[in-house]
Amino acid sequence: MGPTMFPAFHHRYASLPSRMRAECEPTLVTAPRLLAFNHALAEELGLDLDAFDGKRVAEALSGNAVPESAQPVAAAYAGHQFGNFVPQLGDGRALLLGELKHRNGGLYEVQLKGAGRTPFSRGGDGRAPLGPVLREYLVSEAMHALGVPTTRALAAVSTGERVLRQLPEPGAVLTRVASSHLRVGTFQYFSVRGDREALELLVDLAIERHYPNLLDDLQQASWREKALALLEAVVARQARLVAQWKGLGFIHGVMNTDNCAISGETIDYGPCAFMDEFHPRTVFSSIDEGGRYAWINQPPIAQWNLARFAETLLSLIDEDQQKAIELATKPIVAFSDIYQQEWTTVLRAKLGLSASSEIADGNDLALGEALLDAMDKAGADFTLTFRHLAKAISPDSDATPESSLRAGFSDDTGVNGQGEGAKALEAWLPRWRQRLAREVLTESEIQRQMEATNPLVIPRNHLIEKVIRAAADDDDFTPFERLLEAVTQPFSTPDDPGFLQPPRPAERVLRTFCGT
Ligand code: AMP
Ligand code: MG
Repeated sequence: MGPTMFPAFHHRYASLPSRMRAECEPTLVTAPRLLAFNHALAEELGLDLDAFDGKRVAEALSGNAVPESAQPVAAAYAGHQFGNFVPQLGDGRALLLGELKHRNGGLYEVQLKGAGRTPFSRGGDGRAPLGPVLREYLVSEAMHALGVPTTRALAAVSTGERVLRQLPEPGAVLTRVASSHLRVGTFQYFSVRGDREALELLVDLAIERHYPNLLDDLQQASWREKALALLEAVVARQARLVAQWKGLGFIHGVMNTDNCAISGETIDYGPCAFMDEFHPRTVFSSIDEGGRYAWINQPPIAQWNLARFAETLLSLIDEDQQKAIELATKPIVAFSDIYQQEWTTVLRAKLGLSASSEIADGNDLALGEALLDAMDKAGADFTLTFRHLAKAISPDSDATPESSLRAGFSDDTGVNGQGEGAKALEAWLPRWRQRLAREVLTESEIQRQMEATNPLVIPRNHLIEKVIRAAADDDDFTPFERLLEAVTQPFSTPDDPGFLQPPRPAERVLRTFCGT
């Protein structure tokens, strides 16, 4: 035995009663090969990089030779999928190896996604195609770099096998790291089975792992107090999360309750996408026919998911169901105000406006939404508009920056034509400048702040698509590595100016797929 790279795993989840998870070994693959490895994250998780050996890492993270101290389990969960309740979903293609201690002191779950069938696989093969694995790697690491709470990608390994989807595709395994994989659906699974003991264990685990700041106050607390405190905390995190998504033009795409994490992290990067042209009703997911999970719908859907979470806690809150509903409804109603505040904060930062009480203005939200409205009319690029706006902060510095802002609103890029968007922008700019006049910072300071808030590089759909094609068709991973480097430094100018540009018409990706 050579030196081992993995520290000892903890087994908090595996120690839960057996009805909450199933022990399950990964299915062997023929030829594991390491495609990507996140050295920075590995170091944070205490992996010994001096002992790094790509071959052994590939063996370990494909599931062929799981680290000695790992104890693979698949978690049980349920979920509302597009509004329909499915009482049993569970990890059908993911195995939890255990938890590792992060150097920030927290425990993080390490999961192999695509490691073969589990007792929860139903009709599925338990496998993941290479494309969705690379997509999740890129987008989750981009989100992290953008400051959005998210699961992370530790590694991607190819299996040397094909998985059959519409066509045969190369198979891969993603190593996903999350502060936990507890979902609203995890609570639903036990609530619908009337399993109070499991619910209590989940409440304790969730508070201990994700909301340790509540622990002091909850030492002698009743289950009612614990459940309500947890509910309020999750409501606040989800409200902030969807406001952050919206502020980046991000569309999760499949906000089912089984994909709604109790931690407030973004989880499950299936058909997700960042918008190029801004239209609030944009949907990419091929299976989202009604537009349930459109960009604009994400806050009410998060609230809907949280109401489902609240329902799972009712039996802990009060024996009298009416009383319990009354108590649990308050935090759900409060979501609207919390979200509105978070969204206002996001918009202020994007526009270079201070939130301090002496300066901030009650109309800031309306001001931000008026710009979005103009962008919608013009079909302006979501990301570039805010970068151009930062450059246009000084009306008399130089005409050129403003003209790139205006160019994004020109008629021929608009869907509505007639220059409606361009007109709206002209009407909006003086309002913004008037509001900026109240700021104390200098123009260049505000510009710098805007450029540290509004990314330059996002993992645009057409770029991800190209990278996947090169990897899957030509076994060429250089484009993946280059795009990963660019999207993980989203506020810096990338080496390749092609990473900045919206797609040409022929490059547009209008549909994304779950990859299941
Ligand atoms: P998702 O669409 O990834 O949120 O998955 C929804 C449910 O389908 C979860 O229970 C997954 O574990 C399961 N699932 C997705 N893909 C597969 C697959 N290839 N094999 C088995 N189960 C899967
Ligand atoms: Mg899922």
